[in-house]
Amino acid sequence: MPEKPDETEVAHWADKFADEVITRKPDKKEYVVESGVTPSGVVHAGNFREIMTQDLVFKALKDKGVKARYQYFWDDYDRFRKVPAGVPNEWNDYIGLPVTKTPDPWKCHDSYADHFKSLVKNEMKALGINVTFKSAEEEYKKGTFTELVKKALEGAEKIREIHNKFRKDELEKDWLPVRVYCEKCGKDTTTAKYLGGYELEYACECGEKARIDFKKKPALVKMLWRVDWPARWANYDVDFESSGKEHQASGGSVDTADLVCRDVFNHEPPIEPMYEFIYFKGQTEKLSKSKGNAPTITDLMEVYEPEVIRYLYTPKINKSFDVTFDADLLNIYNYFDEAKKSYYGKSEKKDNAEARKYALSKLSDKYVDLPQFSVCVNVIQIALGDAKHAKEILKKTGHAFKDADERLRLAWAWVQKYAPEQYRFIVQEKMPDVKVKKEIADVLSLIADQLNENTDGDNLQQFIFNTSKEKGVPMKDVFAAAYLLFLNKERGPKLGPFLASLDAKFAANRLKMIE
Ligand SMILES: [Zn+2]
Ligand SMILES: [Zn+2]
Repeated sequence: MPEKPDETEVAHWADKFADEVITRKPDKKEYVVESGVTPSGVVHAGNFREIMTQDLVFKALKDKGVKARYQYFWDDYDRFRKVPAGVPNEWNDYIGLPVTKTPDPWKCHDSYADHFKSLVKNEMKALGINVTFKSAEEEYKKGTFTELVKKALEGAEKIREIHNKFRKDELEKDWLPVRVYCEKCGKDTTTAKYLGGYELEYACECGEKARIDFKKKPALVKMLWRVDWPARWANYDVDFESSGKEHQASGGSVDTADLVCRDVFNHEPPIEPMYEFIYFKGQTEKLSKSKGNAPTITDLMEVYEPEVIRYLYTPKINKSFDVTFDADLLNIYNYFDEAKKSYYGKSEKKDNAEARKYALSKLSDKYVDLPQFSVCVNVIQIALGDAKHAKEILKKTGHAFKDADERLRLAWAWVQKYAPEQYRFIVQEKMPDVKVKKEIADVLSLIADQLNENTDGDNLQQFIFNTSKEKGVPMKDVFAAAYLLFLNKERGPKLGPFLASLDAKFAANRLKMIE
């Protein structure tokens, strides 16, 4: 086997960002890549682009031999804003509480926040994404942000001006960059006044009025999102954090966060590129209706291997791409398999850029030979979903079979849930009632004579082609007759390999139309 390529020999965009991160602060001991979300809703595969983008840059940094940390920040001290569809109306009572204090409507976790955290955590784990989790609630409670809260309050005037530059309706003079959580009812339905130092006074909708010292009780005061974000960059000295279009619009949170970071917290913001949207196609009606046309990583994992999902996220981040459940899935698997071969030097035409994409996608350092996904799709259908039988067919037909279980399982799931009609078939146990012309039947009989336990599918395909030509019968009629006999439909998988996959005696009898 040829030498494995140097994993960084061809620069991927993640490598370029990693270079940029290092060049900005060449002597830094540990670089910080950050991502985060408010755990109050499902993170779909489009939002997941942020998590994956950061992971690819994190991996690129490590491949360069520097120390790096991927910090995932739960914005779990955000308020519960509104009751989403599917959640009982009683949850209206919790609006204004932190999502960590809001109960889990599905009753499977300790809080609303924990429910959504666990979904993301499981998906990250499945994709081999290793992050250091931080919780905003815990950090506020510990007083991590106390000095930054003070700076924000002292700089309230400046922050207000920064925001007003981009706003149509100017913020009021008494606007504060923080919210106070009421000590009595726990909600942020308060109005507050800054008294200087660490002191604030507030009045809550519940009637509570109090004067507080947030150095003593740091959990009561939380910065607003557009101030919280740059405060975090300053506190953890974040080097890289990509974000979606919604944050990157003019006057969006990136614009204001940059200014607040520099002017109020005296800190240079991280490298913060925008990533493009992801579109979805080929989903079933049911999925698109129930999830607003946005599948999750868990949905993708029904039909995609984890490494292939990672690979899906390797194209340029300023370009949108389709996540597909239709027949294009077969192409994606093929591209991935080719990238893997390039990486391991098993490809005839080595593509270094693809090899690097694979290096960033891989979850194991061992080369595992697998049959093409399209082969699995055919074989598992011939085996009626029985993986053991399917592996026997793979072995018999000269395909890699040892480690094929997972791919066969995914192929079967794809056939049952997403595969377009032309990719689906059922081998008919009983011979369908088919009228076949004499000259076609003669060709089928000659094909039958070729079949034995060692028939090579591609050679057989060539034989079918040659024999039809010699006998002067249209090849499409031969194919149609064969498919009708086996599948009771006029189209099917490539005939030669298909026939070679079947039990030789069964296939020969069927071609000779012997029951
Ligand atoms: Zn739950
Ligand atoms: Zn209150």
